[in-house]
Amino acid sequence: MDRRKLPFRGLLFGMCFFLLAGCGSDDTKGKVDQESNTVVPEQEKHVIPESWKSLVSISSIDTNIVIDLRYATDNNFTKSVLYDTMRNAYLQEVVAQRLSDVQSFLSSIKPGYRLVVYDAMRPRSVQQRMWDLLDSIPFGERVKFVSNPKSGSVHNYGAAVDVSILNEKGETLDMGAGYDDMRHIAYPMYEDSFKLLGLLTQQQIENRVLLRKVMRRKGFINIPTEWWHFNAFPRAIAKRKFDIIE
Ligand SMILES: [Zn+2]
Repeated sequence: MDRRKLPFRGLLFGMCFFLLAGCGSDDTKGKVDQESNTVVPEQEKHVIPESWKSLVSISSIDTNIVIDLRYATDNNFTKSVLYDTMRNAYLQEVVAQRLSDVQSFLSSIKPGYRLVVYDAMRPRSVQQRMWDLLDSIPFGERVKFVSNPKSGSVHNYGAAVDVSILNEKGETLDMGAGYDDMRHIAYPMYEDSFKLLGLLTQQQIENRVLLRKVMRRKGFINIPTEWWHFNAFPRAIAKRKFDIIE
């Protein structure tokens, strides 16, 4: 048995016990972590699996970056909560530091603008649930949207981030398609075509270009099918450098 799975199983068992025991509503409240200024549920704070030890919460590195962890809510394409206890967005420390560098660069060219993170490290068990939820979509289309959990997503290594930008008023920049929008209009590779059709405006494309510009400046790599997704390393290198989070 993989030793790295044991602590996470312990966490899951603890979560199940906590829920079954009906220990009140405190689990959704947690405590405010002074360092990151975010709410950390008790069980997440006290039971950190061994394989997570190289991860840091983004908020502990840079409080300018806004966290809107969609899979910790039902405001996502599945309409259900996929992160039962995880409320912070975690990344490998080196990746979180690079994201902080992106924020600094963004602030320097667009004062008041902030990155907003929708997803970061995603355990492979959650990847599997997403994959299963999309089983009505043909395999060839599905892999464009959710990486096959068998081979693992770069998210599963804590080396990918889903991100957008808020303006100085705290409004999300209009990208012409929402986060997790599976339609082709969300594909960077089709932007020119959608502009020709009048379905994407110049401003929407410029907003996406700004996001790509700041992320690429610090070495993040965008993909052709999701405007919001960026890898800190190519998948093969992420696999070599980091443990997968189960
Ligand atoms: Zn992603």
